[in-house]
Amino acid sequence: MSKRMIGPFEVGDRIGVGGMGIVYRAIYTKNGARVALKILSPDVSDSESLQRRFEREISILKKLQHPHIVRYYGGGKFGSQRFYAMELVEGGSVEAYLSKKKRLPWEEALDITMQVAKALEHAHEAGVIHRDLKPANLLMTSENVIKLTDFGIARDTTATALTAAGKTVGTYAYMAPEQIRGKPPVDKKTDLYAMGCVLFEMIAGETPFTSENQGEMLMQHLQEEPPRITSLVPECPIFLEELIFKLLEKDPEDRVYDALALQAEVDEVRTKVTEQRSVAAQTMSSGTTLGRTQSATELKSILNRKKKKKKRDNSPFYERAWFLGLCLLLLVGSVAWSLLPEGEAKLMERAEKLVNSEYILDWRDAKEKYLNPLLAKFPKGRYAEKAEQLIIDLDKKIVDKEMHSTKRVKNGPENEAEKQMLAAEHFLKFGDRITALKKYRSITRLFKDQEKFQIYVLLAQDQVDAIIRSGGADEDYVAYLNKKLKEADSLFKKGKVTEAEDIWRGVKELYRDNEEVRPLVQYASKRMEREDPGLPPWLDAEELKEPE
Ligand code: ADP
Ligand code: MG
Repeated sequence: MSKRMIGPFEVGDRIGVGGMGIVYRAIYTKNGARVALKILSPDVSDSESLQRRFEREISILKKLQHPHIVRYYGGGKFGSQRFYAMELVEGGSVEAYLSKKKRLPWEEALDITMQVAKALEHAHEAGVIHRDLKPANLLMTSENVIKLTDFGIARDTTATALTAAGKTVGTYAYMAPEQIRGKPPVDKKTDLYAMGCVLFEMIAGETPFTSENQGEMLMQHLQEEPPRITSLVPECPIFLEELIFKLLEKDPEDRVYDALALQAEVDEVRTKVTEQRSVAAQTMSSGTTLGRTQSATELKSILNRKKKKKKRDNSPFYERAWFLGLCLLLLVGSVAWSLLPEGEAKLMERAEKLVNSEYILDWRDAKEKYLNPLLAKFPKGRYAEKAEQLIIDLDKKIVDKEMHSTKRVKNGPENEAEKQMLAAEHFLKFGDRITALKKYRSITRLFKDQEKFQIYVLLAQDQVDAIIRSGGADEDYVAYLNKKLKEADSLFKKGKVTEAEDIWRGVKELYRDNEEVRPLVQYASKRMEREDPGLPPWLDAEELKEPE
């Protein structure tokens, strides 16, 4: 088989596939040097944005020359194929290394961190933010020297226009909150957050946040306290845990100052551990029983940590979740648009996968990322009608879910339509289908001309249909209430007090403004208070006459 040549390079086997290119082993025929050749995939060669990204990667790599950053050798075009040559790093990625070893000793993890910190210091000084720091982008030489690579989505802060438009495309498990929100702007602190995730993963064998679900994962980055690494790996020094927390601070301002400071911090952890060990050794030999507990400094830092934890958990979950919804829309929007243009069928297929998820964020994804783009690009396509229907279904699901969210339960309904929907639902849950049906019907009439409430109208209509489908509600509601109150009495007699009270409370609350059933409400009220309720309202003269 003849050797494949690309310019002066003899192409060998494939060593990696990335988002935009394929990496091959190759030989520079002029001197026999072994290099890595990254070639922009032919199928993305016609995507302008990916081409620009590839060019940007080259121009960034060109200006970075550092022992811990993959060295750029030169690039070119072969026919219509863009490629570049770089230092060949033979030992595989940290990702591969980790998947083999599962966990690294913390000392080794710190060692790797130190090297990456040096690489980051250099890149940051050159005005380059990596933005996609993760184990897959850390290569190792056969001597275990770390080489940072893949500046594919890096941002050159000294460049303008093109990169200024660059949005978040990092990898979710390592994504800093500001990268998700787009605010404050991504900067060197963003790489430090990712470093924190990588450091955590190297020691614990898993990233600090591990949700299978993309939306949930982002939510965790935004609002969840990372787990204590010492709870997963007890032998990890508390000082190192502290450092990890400092890297994983949500607010970039609170994070380790910069990559140089990180190096100092790494050194400090090492020093403290050594000190602690010698103190421990002394204590042991002097016979004092401090046990396995930490030294005074260590204890202090645990206490600080606890205090801090309390202080931080302030704003309520739902507010942030609500906000996240918006962020996520922006995020997935930008991610979606930066990918390849997709066919109509593909978009539909992806949307359908998300539709049955139980997460509201997935439903939003399905709409924003796939269905809306589908309609925008193929307004007359064969899936257009289906997409429109799916969007309506999703909107209904979203509104319905929001209506029942913890936020609403706490703060009350968002608008009049929602309020009435919830009221109708109370009757339905109580079993008074006729009143529920009436209420749902009135919602469909009341709001039918108000654009912004259309989803509620559709939801209410669904309920009307459901009630009718399941046998309608021809029972007189007064009769129904009588039946319920009788039931409550017999439940109470059998000692099922809570169940009886649920009924009484339901009658009291749902019908207190209803003149027609006032005696029934009073009866329920009295029963509830354990007062003498008098004669049950449903007893008629006939029954009363029955002897004994
Ligand atoms: P992308 O930007 O498309 O993700 P990467 O730069 O991450 O591409 O490269 C993809 C894979 O190729 C890497 O994960 C790694 O396994 C391999 N690779 C990349 N650069 C080199 C290199 N210089 N030496 C050895 N392997 C490399
Ligand atoms: Mg990569």
